[in-house]
Amino acid sequence: GRKFFVGGNWKCNGTTEEVKKIVTTLNEAQVPGDDVVEVVLSPPFVFLPVVKSLLRPDFQVAAQNCWVRKGGAFTGEVSAEMLVNLGIPWVVLGHSERRQLLNESSEFVGDKVAYALSQGLKVIACIGETLEQREANSTMTVVAEQTKAIAAKISNWDNVVLAYEPVWAIGTGKVATPAQAQEVHDELRKWIHQNVSAEVAAAVRIIYGGSVNGANCKELATQPDVDGFLVGGASLKPEFVDIIKSAT
Ligand code: 13P
Repeated sequence: GRKFFVGGNWKCNGTTEEVKKIVTTLNEAQVPGDDVVEVVLSPPFVFLPVVKSLLRPDFQVAAQNCWVRKGGAFTGEVSAEMLVNLGIPWVVLGHSERRQLLNESSEFVGDKVAYALSQGLKVIACIGETLEQREANSTMTVVAEQTKAIAAKISNWDNVVLAYEPVWAIGTGKVATPAQAQEVHDELRKWIHQNVSAEVAAAVRIIYGGSVNGANCKELATQPDVDGFLVGGASLKPEFVDIIKSAT
């Protein structure tokens, strides 16, 4: 079976004091073991060292981005090698906020995923359609194109988690219904079956993101192709513990 995966994307939020408070709350929480659920917190770069040092050992950390190739003269960027050097195991790539606000193309995201994997990082690769695209019935075309740009650049999916995050659901309170999430996850798995392999399709975790909270997580988690969540706003709150618990 695919191990349930719960990621907390803190985005560009937090002070040192707030970060320590969130970590303390999570450290004291009673949750299923890491044989049942993989929990990965993604604070802003500057807080990665303090979060990693304070965090319980059964939870992991992720960066929210990294540079597309080897580091060097790229002012303001953080390289995959630096994350590895700091012992950061995971990186989130291709988040819709970066695709939309920073114009990251699918090809650029594919290059980033490939480079990060080549350096030994594990990747949470994000895909998802806008409201306009959904209303034009092009959801599957869009997510297939985004997935294809990644699939074209990698040969080993062992260290990849695919995060389906419809843009219209992110930060809006308009969570996808369990049926909507299941439909896209199922189609993505079929796409991977046809275009990558049956083995990867069966093994890869496809997690859902977009307005997940302590109240709606349970029903989403029961969907057969929903293997976990990538949580934004609610990952900064105590209800993140309830989302972790929805693994069982
Ligand atoms: P929200 O949970 O705040 O909608 O954000 C989802 C997200 O973008 C996680 O990466």
